[in-house]
Amino acid sequence: MRPRVAVVGTGVAGLTCTHVLRHDFDVTVFEAAPRPGGHTNTVSIALPEGEFPVDTGFIVYNEPGYRAWSACSPSSMSSRSRAT
Ligand SMILES: Cc1cc2nc3c(=O)[nH]c(=O)nc-3n(C[C@H](O)[C@H](O)[C@H](O)COP(=O)(O)OP(=O)(O)OC[C@H]3O[C@@H](n4cnc5c(N)ncnc54)[C@H](O)[C@@H]3O)c2cc1C
Repeated sequence: MRPRVAVVGTGVAGLTCTHVLRHDFDVTVFEAAPRPGGHTNTVSIALPEGEFPVDTGFIVYNEPGYRAWSACSPSSMSSRSRAT
């Protein structure tokens, strides 16, 4: 019988834990909200150019703040800075 583990919350942390543990444990996930995802929530924004999905958990990206990502794949990433 596999060990059982409980994961509380389905934000990126809970879902990542669940994904990593799934082969070795019987994982039960608890979520208080009516939808999974936690702060990570993709909403649709209508602009004159069209409809765009925007993830509210990750809305800021800049190279000084995310150096590790920039170093991982500099040729495949691009960024646009926008003052908010
Ligand atoms: C306004 C804002 C903007 C952000 N912008 C960025 C950004 O641009 N770039 C970036 O890298 N990061 C950003 N972050 C941070 C990033 O979104 C969070 O660090 C990340 O989403 C946290 O994930 P988490 O899984 O730890 O928690 P959460 O996503 O908060 O998930 C926690 C989950 O646990 C559930 N829960 C809590 N208590 C219980 C309970 N007792 N029982 C069951 N379920 C429970 C909640 O309902 C929720 O679904 C931002 C955060 C905020 C608040």
